[in-house]
Amino acid sequence: MTDSELPSQPHTFALWREVQDTRVRTRLGGIYYLLAWLLTWLFSSAPLDMLGSGLLGSAFFALMLALRLVHQPPAQTSSACLQLWIDRHWYLIYITSLSWGLAHAWALQDVQFEPSRLIATLSTIAFSTAMAFNFSMRKERCMSAILLLYLPGLAVLMMQREEQQALLVTLAFYLSYLLLALSRSHREYRNTLTMEQQLIEQRERYDLLSRTDSLTQLGNRLQFNGLFTALVANVQRHGGQLSLVLLDIDFFKRINDEYGHSTGDQCLHAFAERMRVVFRRDSDALLRLGGEEFGVLMMDTPLEQARELAEEFRGNLASQGLEIQGQALPMTTSIGVGSFDARRDGNAEAFFKRVDDALYLAKAEGRDRLVLAGLD
Ligand code: GH3
Ligand code: MG
Ligand code: MG
Repeated sequence: MTDSELPSQPHTFALWREVQDTRVRTRLGGIYYLLAWLLTWLFSSAPLDMLGSGLLGSAFFALMLALRLVHQPPAQTSSACLQLWIDRHWYLIYITSLSWGLAHAWALQDVQFEPSRLIATLSTIAFSTAMAFNFSMRKERCMSAILLLYLPGLAVLMMQREEQQALLVTLAFYLSYLLLALSRSHREYRNTLTMEQQLIEQRERYDLLSRTDSLTQLGNRLQFNGLFTALVANVQRHGGQLSLVLLDIDFFKRINDEYGHSTGDQCLHAFAERMRVVFRRDSDALLRLGGEEFGVLMMDTPLEQARELAEEFRGNLASQGLEIQGQALPMTTSIGVGSFDARRDGNAEAFFKRVDDALYLAKAEGRDRLVLAGLD
């Protein structure tokens, strides 16, 4: 999944991240419950005497493992779908935890498990430790799962506290450590998540900056290239009208030579501001294509309408010039205007060339004029 496909809403992104993390971590864990049960059963004093319950336990943990594996994350990234998946997956975790807790309690109580009791207790410690560190995305749920793993065994040890005092106290201490470790692990998980979100936001900001011209705050050439290709592809597929206006300031080099580069920059800025006033529809994309060349991509706009607006812009500029530091500075622009025409334009490049040729013609015919593209 690329950055642009990730859920952009912080809450949904956090859920999506949690689903991925839960999925990866749960896939590893499931098999160890089955192994722990097999070891506890097969190393008991008489595994064959417990064939029925041994096999039943194995089948149960194998089933839980299979359910974890087949429970695939949702293809949709809506927060409701993600939340539902997380809730369902936690049921599987709870059921496995409780089942192991009960298996451990049974091993502590039944003399047949005397030789493998240590395996069951060590497994309980291992599972609850793994739980505290791997499933700390949800603190309360993780705490409940640890208690489900732990409490049945502790209850049996309480009943046997005369002989099992040392183990009972040790396990109780360890439980308190686990709960503290869980709190820290939860905090770290949240911090990492926040950092990841900030990183993505920052990358998006840089991406925007790289597509914006710093002098005029219009979209730059990079932005134009991406947008233009996408918009042309869109009209080719779905129809509609896409117009392109290309503007090139006349004799701009002279302005630089006469007034200095800094005034030249101010002119470019003021020119862009003037464009914003005339091409003001939300769907108009205003761009600086380079130097003193500008473009306007107008969606759902027929040629005539684009021509009218561009002509209004040209006329205003020619009669008023630009106001720079309280002084009116004469300035004109040449303009090429065209609308995408599927019969003439095979692709975006051909369309651009047609409008660019019109602009070239406007220059050649004496500047300060508008030429419509491809009306030959
Ligand atoms: P024409 O009417 O044929 O378009 O003439 P022109 O002088 O506008 O065109 P030309 O391509 O000869 O020169 C463009 C000038 O624009 C040259 C360059 O110094 C100036 N220019 C390009 N980018 C900038 C910029 O960012 N700031 C300033 N101040 N000038 C720039
Ligand atoms: Mg030029
Ligand atoms: Mg020019």
